[in-house]
Amino acid sequence: MNSDFSKMSCAEFQDRMAELIGSGEDLTAHPHLRDCADCRALLADLKTIAEAARQLFPSVEPPDEVWEHIESAIKRGD
Ligand SMILES: [Zn+2]
Repeated sequence: MNSDFSKMSCAEFQDRMAELIGSGEDLTAHPHLRDCADCRALLADLKTIAEAARQLFPSVEPPDEVWEHIESAIKRGD
């Protein structure tokens, strides 16, 4: 299944990019990025935007952490 990654189209890769970033995947090692300068440039842009957003809104927690808080609140039964 992983061997199909390098044959992904740019649209398919970009569809999954947010999901992959969110999962903490190291996208710089992604096979599609090794072959595709367009998507490498796009990822660099996204990282720049994410970095700028962190500086503008330093108090905003990453979505994963927010979700963990929600999850633990549900498990506590509050
Ligand atoms: Zn691409």
